Amino acid sequence: MAFDYDLFVIGGGSGGVRAARVAAETGARVGLAEEYRMGGTCVIRGCVPKKLMVFASGFSHAFEDARGFGWDVAEAAFDWPAFRAKKDAEIARLEGIYRANLDRAGVEAFDARATLAGPHEVTLSTGQSFRARHVLIATGGAPFMPDLPGIEHAISSNDIFDMEVLPGRALVVGGGFIACEFACILNGMGVAVTQLYRGEQILRGFDGEMRGHLAEAMCERGVDLHVGTDVERIDKADGALRVTRNDGHLHEVDLVLYATGRRPSTAGLGLEEAGVDLARGGAVKVDEWSQSSVPSIYAVGDVTDRVNLTPVAIREGAAFVETVFKANPVAVDHSVVASAVFTQPEFGTVGMTEEAARDAGPIEIYSAAFRPMQNILAGSEERVLMKLVVCAETRRVLGVHIIGPGAGEMIQLAGVAVTMGATKEDFDRTVAVHPTMAEELVTMKTPTRTA
Ligand code: NDP
Repeated sequence: MAFDYDLFVIGGGSGGVRAARVAAETGARVGLAEEYRMGGTCVIRGCVPKKLMVFASGFSHAFEDARGFGWDVAEAAFDWPAFRAKKDAEIARLEGIYRANLDRAGVEAFDARATLAGPHEVTLSTGQSFRARHVLIATGGAPFMPDLPGIEHAISSNDIFDMEVLPGRALVVGGGFIACEFACILNGMGVAVTQLYRGEQILRGFDGEMRGHLAEAMCERGVDLHVGTDVERIDKADGALRVTRNDGHLHEVDLVLYATGRRPSTAGLGLEEAGVDLARGGAVKVDEWSQSSVPSIYAVGDVTDRVNLTPVAIREGAAFVETVFKANPVAVDHSVVASAVFTQPEFGTVGMTEEAARDAGPIEIYSAAFRPMQNILAGSEERVLMKLVVCAETRRVLGVHIIGPGAGEMIQLAGVAVTMGATKEDFDRTVAVHPTMAEELVTMKTPTRTA
């Protein structure tokens, strides 16, 4: 039977756009539907606007430090609406580039919601319907907020980019990437921030020592962090929000941000009706080639809930095209993925945590905690923490963890070494770059501990 498209992509985010473009470049006829704005979570309401906010909020700390270096800095004030307008213009510009790139590659883009009507049938909210040889689900995820009294008074990470005014006091719920990043962003912008996390320590799943160090540093910078507690209810009263905790404690704030995870966006897509197996949380179940239980339907990115990061979705999109359109099966290796949490200070991490490595075999830990040079004149007590997790038998560096200025940039290069299988001796024979913070990574001679 004839097909209108060789590939129809549902979702115009990082994974979907990359797959659509590279598939079209092979000569395939490609259609793509996006119901909101082209660029997806990363560009429109995730990584990119978040990073702009990280830059904006970092100035308050820089102004303070500047005084220590002899600058006479007058009282500085942050103008949220002025920043927001600039940020919005930049996001619109990037969205335009995404559209232009799709167009240039020959992808037919539809501003519409698409649903499946069968293994090869796609229906758009415009009423059009198409037959496609392959369908790629790249619909990403959406913020999850638990059901509790007054939750309608809270906002999610989708809404925070469009705040009308900067609140005086904010309460952030959650201990993951988004909660920690926005607690720091708002704090840097001059908001009085309280963060509540139900678990023992923020950033569950990350290296334990690093989590403790980061939590301390965030508190030092002014985030009022409370762990082991959760919200019971939120009430609106006298123009403020009253947040009652499950231990009876009360917080009065102007804004409540829920950052309690994201869920795959699969509801109402017609996936189950088309025979696609979904996991319990709604993610599309896929094999190593990103193929679902229906052979014509593939899925990449957050909707598959593997490693929910933009560069991973892009890799998965490109690997799908290699596999399906270039007869060159490529499976993405999810085992070593460097990432950065853009807290203040930043946290970069790649490979195994000390806890996971210790469970796998004997290890050596090399770590250094120090006040970086710029903090001394600035009068800041904040310390950088760098840590290498080394396999005692193979000598391979299994994990690198860094908290400090520029950690996100440093971890990218550490990621190359870990991906290549570098040993501790490879790090040792690498000549230091002086004077930098990163030189500590190649000058740690004696293990801090073994396990
Ligand atoms: P995470 O899964 O990282 O964190 C969710 C947090 O919410 C956890 O602390 C979790 O607690 C808590 N939580 C979950 N459910 C509830 C509940 N019902 N009540 C109270 N607390 C709850 O999700 P995020 O939303 O922070 O981020 C989503 C994903 O986006 C990340 O996993 C990451 O992959 C990606 N991301 C990456 C960034 C980067 O690379 N810099 C930045 C932002 C997002 P518990 O630990 O107890 O489960």
